[in-house]
Amino acid sequence: MDLTHTPDEDAFRAEAREWLTANVPSEPLPSLETEEGFAAHREWEGRLATDRWSVVNWPAEYGGRGADIFRWLVFEEEYYRAGGPGRVSQNGINLLAPTLFDYATDEQRARVLPPMASGEVIWAQAWSEPESGSDLASLRSTAVRTEGGWLLSGQKTWSSRAAFADRAFGIFRTDPEAPKPHQGLTYLMFDLKAPGVTVRPIGRLDGKPAFAELFLDQVFVPDEDVIGEPGQGWRIAMSTTGNERGLTLRSPGRFLAAADRLTALWRAQGEDVTLRDRVADAVIGARAYQLFTYANASRFAAGETIGAESSLNKVFWSEYDIALHETALELLGTDGELADTAWSEGYVFSLSGPIYAGTNEIQRDIIAERLLGLPRGRRA
Ligand SMILES: Cc1cc2nc3c(=O)[nH]c(=O)nc-3n(C[C@H](O)[C@H](O)[C@H](O)COP(=O)(O)OP(=O)(O)OC[C@H]3O[C@@H](n4cnc5c(N)ncnc54)[C@H](O)[C@@H]3O)c2cc1C
Repeated sequence: MDLTHTPDEDAFRAEAREWLTANVPSEPLPSLETEEGFAAHREWEGRLATDRWSVVNWPAEYGGRGADIFRWLVFEEEYYRAGGPGRVSQNGINLLAPTLFDYATDEQRARVLPPMASGEVIWAQAWSEPESGSDLASLRSTAVRTEGGWLLSGQKTWSSRAAFADRAFGIFRTDPEAPKPHQGLTYLMFDLKAPGVTVRPIGRLDGKPAFAELFLDQVFVPDEDVIGEPGQGWRIAMSTTGNERGLTLRSPGRFLAAADRLTALWRAQGEDVTLRDRVADAVIGARAYQLFTYANASRFAAGETIGAESSLNKVFWSEYDIALHETALELLGTDGELADTAWSEGYVFSLSGPIYAGTNEIQRDIIAERLLGLPRGRRA
């Protein structure tokens, strides 16, 4: 793997840096988990999109710059270096969009992608159900055939930002008679404001109200909002999770910038020698994660898919994020945990890293079985 940046990539980096320096808000936006913050972040997505920085690696016809995966990584490094706001559109851009590129019709791509890129339509992921998190294939929400479309019923839960989002994508059981749980599922998009949808916020530790559960009572979805063939929902859903975990969900730019901020904090707090090794670990960890991600990107660019290796990424960044925030809080002392700072907010959120995007227990089982070839463990 050659890690030298090409002159083109350097020029791209310079252009992105210049734009971000001129445009990133000087004050952090309010939390995107609140109504006010959600609106501010939506506006920011629109600002990014105006100059085609919201989805740099998408084709130009959908609002992107046709950049390759390496330029996307460069952009992410610059974005977080500049202190760019968290992306409220990330479920749409990182999860639904790759699915649409692989499985949607031209009409669906033309209809759904541009308003996603501009932040006009913000998407929530509606996969999990109360009894179906890790064992997602056991999901029970149904889609029943009706004239011109489908009627959705059931309950979805743990849906990030669904309280303020516009639309959602999820998998539904369309053939309850199918012989295996992951068969007879269909992938659909639906409107969170449609008749029959009730969105109920779930209380979070930090009191912010965007996380929600969804109750669906005969919600009509037209045929045009089915992705791929009915019955193929599982294969479609699984096809994108590897690349998400292995590449796009947490770009190294985020952790490189966080390690820089931690180093600056350590300096500002008097260069405590007892915490020096942990700060150094954070810097080394960010760099190691960057190199591993570039290796994955090389494989992706060569046309390979990123399979079980993506579980290594997921376990690594989620545990790294907690360690980094714990070090920051120790540097800040007792006040760090109590005060409502970016570090304390980041710490609380980091605790959920080993749970969302597939729990780390499940990722470790995948690593053990598929990468190390160990015998099958606890799963039946
Ligand atoms: C902050 C956050 C945001 C989220 N956002 C979304 C979202 O936007 N959309 C969405 O659809 N979902 C979302 N989720 C849900 C998330 O994907 C699930 O919480 C996760 O998959 C775990 O499922 P569960 O909560 O049902 O726990 P369970 O599956 O019930 O697991 C409970 C515990 O048992 C362990 N366990 C379960 N089965 C096994 C096994 N076979 N072997 C070993 N250990 C096992 C798990 O690892 C875990 O520790 C989010 C969750 C969080 C915390």
